[in-house]
Amino acid sequence: MPELPEVESVRRSLSHLVVGLRVARATLARPDMLSGQDAAPAAEALLQGRTITRIDRHGKNLALIASDNRALGVHLGMTGRLSVLPAPLNPPLAPHTHACWSLAHPRSGVPAASMTFQDPRRFGGMVAYATHEAVGQAWAQLGPDALETTPEILAAQLAGTRRAIKAALLDQRVIAGVGNIYADEALFRAGVAPMHPSDRLRRGSVGLIAQKVVEVLREAIDAGGSSVRDYLDAAGQPGSYARSHAVYGRAGEPCLRCGRTLLSCLVSQRTTVWCRSCQR
Ligand SMILES: [Zn+2]
Repeated sequence: MPELPEVESVRRSLSHLVVGLRVARATLARPDMLSGQDAAPAAEALLQGRTITRIDRHGKNLALIASDNRALGVHLGMTGRLSVLPAPLNPPLAPHTHACWSLAHPRSGVPAASMTFQDPRRFGGMVAYATHEAVGQAWAQLGPDALETTPEILAAQLAGTRRAIKAALLDQRVIAGVGNIYADEALFRAGVAPMHPSDRLRRGSVGLIAQKVVEVLREAIDAGGSSVRDYLDAAGQPGSYARSHAVYGRAGEPCLRCGRTLLSCLVSQRTTVWCRSCQR
């Protein structure tokens, strides 16, 4: 599942490829992949007739902001992918293409690119917003963006929760953007066991977790994210961070720090990999 670094890599590649282009035509193949339509026709909800001025991100959520302030939210879910192709699309479209856009240069009207949204598992989706302020209101239901995590913010967000620290980090209302990969990696770096109750963490440990969450996310963004299964950015490029994973996907292999065998357990129904001697 794409987490913050992968979604940020999509945002950056998408910004490079589509900002400044006008949506000449938008088509929705699966109406159930679009919600929040506020009576606007699907093509309008998909920003037809508008120029894309900016791509915003909060946690794992993206929003395409249009010239008239309308916006389209996109969540990639588990297998969602936004792809930009340099040429006009020719049928047949790739399987599981739920929406497509023909993009043109705004002044000349000359076709510039096509964009598609594919999502085989359909845990992702799109949300139509009448204004970009409405996007902000929807995103305010989530916790702060994980890249902005500070020891003070994390301590405040964890106040009163007895849940395992990993379960809290995965909760998008606590901080937005961390998923299974980066929760395991950050907790390994912080030396904190994933099942440690959040309310029994020392202040110093909370501070270290906050610092390591940001550190691991920044490194992963610099590497273009982690391509574990099938993640690609909007230009079709994979990320290279998977080869830097210290624990995720390495259960049964030796800990890179102490050499003991990494263990696997379930926290919040998610496979969790950790080192019993390096994480307390
Ligand atoms: Zn170890």
